[in-house]
Amino acid sequence: MGYNVAIDGPAGAGKSTIAKAVAKELNLIYVDTGAMYRAVALYMLREGVDLTDREKIASKCTEADVTIRYEDGVQVVFLNGENVNAYLRTEEVGEAASMVSPIPQVRKNMVALQKNLAAKSDCIMDGRDIGTCVLPDARLKIYLTASSDVRARRRYDELLAKGENCDLQKIKADIEDRDFRDMNREESPLRQAPDAVVVDTSDMAVEEVISSVIELCRSTR
Ligand code: C5P
Repeated sequence: MGYNVAIDGPAGAGKSTIAKAVAKELNLIYVDTGAMYRAVALYMLREGVDLTDREKIASKCTEADVTIRYEDGVQVVFLNGENVNAYLRTEEVGEAASMVSPIPQVRKNMVALQKNLAAKSDCIMDGRDIGTCVLPDARLKIYLTASSDVRARRRYDELLAKGENCDLQKIKADIEDRDFRDMNREESPLRQAPDAVVVDTSDMAVEEVISSVIELCRSTR
């Protein structure tokens, strides 16, 4: 096995921002596992599947073929051969992803894909169950978190900067809903691995978080 870093934590903790920056600095592949669940969710949304119908999702998920390629270090997600990167990062798809991700049939394929990617390359992988399930032997595990107020505020600022209209209280409620689902599901719930280093970013600037994670990586590589 190569050098693998696992980053888990709740929605909006900054996992992807941090993992991307660290990957670049240390020449690792950044594997975004949320994007894979988002691709399955996009498929269900497009097919008009009722997201509370677990049986339907379990049977239809075999129709959603998700594959990954890396182009200039950027992860590209293909859904049945179509590059769907542009459609994955919306709140709607994020919510839908947390509805499809508890279903064992969905997770089984995604976890296999993720293990396969990690076996092939030195990577930093973010998600919810990476340290606990996907890469239990990762050289370094980080549990990245922040208060829900801070996470909601960051999401809000991000959307405002994109010129999107949004409501801070609604964003906070959505984030808390999503955390609840991710932490309380039966299958691979979001948990801090016993051997994970906890980084609470509530009072840290992005640059500060990046340099402390780089430091942690250097000390374990
Ligand atoms: O991290 P991101 O917001 O892209 O994840 C979207 C959803 O996908 C999460 O809320 C979670 O339900 C699911 N997910 C998961 N396991 C992972 C990554 C994401 O269940 N490893």
